[in-house]
Amino acid sequence: MSNFQYQGENLTCENLEIDSITRDLETPFYCYSSKKIRDNINKYKNNLKNSNSKICFALKANSNIELIKIIAQQGLGADVVSMGEFQKALKAGISGKDIVFSGVGKTQKEIEFAIKNHCFQINAESLSEIKKINEIAQNLNIKQNIGIRINPDVKPETHSKITTGSIENKFGIPISEVKNLFNQSNLFENLNFNGLAFHIGSQIMKLEPFEEACKITNQLVKEIENNDFKIKTIDVGGGIGIDDDEEFQFENYFNLIDLYFAKKDRMIIFEPGRTIIGNTALLISKILYIKETEDKIFVVIDAGMNDFMRPALYGAVHDILPILKSSSIEKKTIEIVGPICETSDKFLTSDNFQNVNEGDFIAISNAGAYGSSMSSNYNIRPNIAEVLVNDKKFSIIRKRQSLEDLINQ
Ligand SMILES: *Cc1c(COP(=O)(O)O)cnc(C)c1O
Repeated sequence: MSNFQYQGENLTCENLEIDSITRDLETPFYCYSSKKIRDNINKYKNNLKNSNSKICFALKANSNIELIKIIAQQGLGADVVSMGEFQKALKAGISGKDIVFSGVGKTQKEIEFAIKNHCFQINAESLSEIKKINEIAQNLNIKQNIGIRINPDVKPETHSKITTGSIENKFGIPISEVKNLFNQSNLFENLNFNGLAFHIGSQIMKLEPFEEACKITNQLVKEIENNDFKIKTIDVGGGIGIDDDEEFQFENYFNLIDLYFAKKDRMIIFEPGRTIIGNTALLISKILYIKETEDKIFVVIDAGMNDFMRPALYGAVHDILPILKSSSIEKKTIEIVGPICETSDKFLTSDNFQNVNEGDFIAISNAGAYGSSMSSNYNIRPNIAEVLVNDKKFSIIRKRQSLEDLINQ
């Protein structure tokens, strides 16, 4: 979290004291560091110097248009999973030629929109979908690139709700059927069978599952190319995890992809979400009430699971930092909870948190990915504000939603 450091007792974002933002802005809110976004992107770029590749940011991780604009300015494309995300990517300045359309249930309207907007590649997940894309492309008289999303059947060690590349998951086409699909590809006159795509899950910290997926895919590539087809793109998905205590071996990851797939006339597509935006934000919240029971202290904050769903949904653990640091530690276990009427509305349990007081502010770390984009209006709570810090100044990039909008629906 190098862009979020303590200076003295003050937690800062790019040298701006977060405490000073809380004086101007109602909590809770998301606070992003623009420098951190650029740093994360450079990590990809620096590792990809020599290969023919495309980095497509997975918009579902965060779809704030001002953030997508920054990402677009750095030259990234987009990986989208709906027409709304497609439109947002376009609006942020990403060309259709740099957009990959993923997802297991694209509608007719969405496919039409993608084809009309020159989508670089639609990743298809079933024979029925391939037929549908061909039919729509035929009606529009366009030849459309598709990728075949395969299910490599690997089981990454991550939360069971975020594995996607195991055969019991709904995603992708089983390996055993893919060769046959390529053999039938001439039946689909309006499609270019561009290549293969996989995405095995999310928040994966180990290299091995990626290596396994690469191995399996590489074997398939060889078999398909032996049948005189050319695999022009390999889409390796996203899925790399972030963890303050553990470094993901980026360099080895890129070497791995290079080793298995780099080839003249072949493009490698990366679809990172979390690794671009996850560690760029804090969720700032205020302590409303402190409620002491016999064996613990409940700390009720003003952010809830509707604002940040990952702990409730996946049991994700996010560190929580005080905005103003002190050296005295609470004697009891504290449990930091939200205001929502659900027992799962709980953020963290800690045995060594500093002394807490009502009115103090805290920051939930690594909240940039799947935070804002997954938030809801549950309990009729408005979407919270988002601010972007750039060079010691902050600007509001999403205003807090007004209650009027909500209560009239
Ligand atoms: C969600 C998703 C991604 C991004 O995953 P991260 O874990 O955020 O990197 C990439 N590709 C596809 C197809 C996805 O569904």
